[in-house]
Amino acid sequence: MKNETLIKKARASLLNARLNQPFKIATGAHNSLENVLFEIELADGTRGFGEAAPASHITGETQKKTLANLQGTAKMLEGLSACDYLEISRACATGLSDNRCAATAVEAALLDALSKHLKMPMYKFFGPKPRILATDMTIVLGTAEEAEICGRAIAKRGIKSFKIKLNGDISLDFARTLAVAESAPRNPVRLDANQAYPPAKMMELVRELKKAKVQLELIEQPVPKDDWEGLREVSRKCGVCVCADEALAGMEDIVRLIKGGYAQAANIKTAKFGFILGAEMARLCVSNGIKLMIGGMMESLLAMTASAHLAAGVGGFDFVDLDTPFFIKDNIMRGGVLSNSGVYDLSKVKSGLGVTPCNYGIKKTPGAFAGTVHGVQMAKKSRI
Ligand SMILES: [Mg+2]
Repeated sequence: MKNETLIKKARASLLNARLNQPFKIATGAHNSLENVLFEIELADGTRGFGEAAPASHITGETQKKTLANLQGTAKMLEGLSACDYLEISRACATGLSDNRCAATAVEAALLDALSKHLKMPMYKFFGPKPRILATDMTIVLGTAEEAEICGRAIAKRGIKSFKIKLNGDISLDFARTLAVAESAPRNPVRLDANQAYPPAKMMELVRELKKAKVQLELIEQPVPKDDWEGLREVSRKCGVCVCADEALAGMEDIVRLIKGGYAQAANIKTAKFGFILGAEMARLCVSNGIKLMIGGMMESLLAMTASAHLAAGVGGFDFVDLDTPFFIKDNIMRGGVLSNSGVYDLSKVKSGLGVTPCNYGIKKTPGAFAGTVHGVQMAKKSRI
């Protein structure tokens, strides 16, 4: 098997696409998908794909640097065996420590190729059976009216939970959240402040929303990432599950979170942690009673499905936030793993990821996700 799994070729290329609308959060915005595709080809002709998602306004990584790093890595991988994925992963984690999304793309391509070679779905690297994952859908920053229209559209397509981005303006955030909650009263509401609030203000917003009978399910990263005491204060006092996101940079932060009781949940993002470490972090959280979210950056169906394989295999993920393929206007990926109502069902995947870039000539799966039906398109029709 070793000869068949030798990496014959590897290459990196730009992966760009238009969005339906800018993806605006408190720390910045994505106006288009500007990622990097990484591809390896094994000696037996099997191809594996990975996606690097640099989020300049969050991690400081750039598309240009990520492309250059992956082009350099591609040369070093040629001639190695994909079976040595753990060793390669460790080397990339060290060599690309300031460009983690690049290391993630290498891991994804290796696991995709290897699982295709073994004729098994990728989730089997993490667990025997795939859990069904139902993603929430994000309502990005905007007006209360836009939030309400998006909320209705999201509920209409069958997605069961909302994730509302907050910007720190308490009256606007209150009005937007209330508008969404009223648009679909039975759907749980998750808030993602992206570090926009001081602890006292966050708790004030939660109190007001509770008074208005809004059913809050989760609050993600309410306070600045370095304010661990503030994070713990909100977690202990607000009466809603609090999830750490930007505060988590690696395993040491997961250990800190568990030991100090700083939050009830952790957002595991493969773009930051990769798959091997991400799975280890997730298992450590589960065994210590910490709830899990699987999340991502601005990623196409390729990267989000790779994260879905991790979450579906490891299990224990209470919150699924893998919705950015719905924000991408261009149809750049093929595969039938994500339904229009936001359900990732990996039981249909025979081998590998189950998603392939469109320009690789794979026949389109019947019923494949088209990536063009989106709440914001309805908002545009309503001239918002
Ligand atoms: Mg977040």
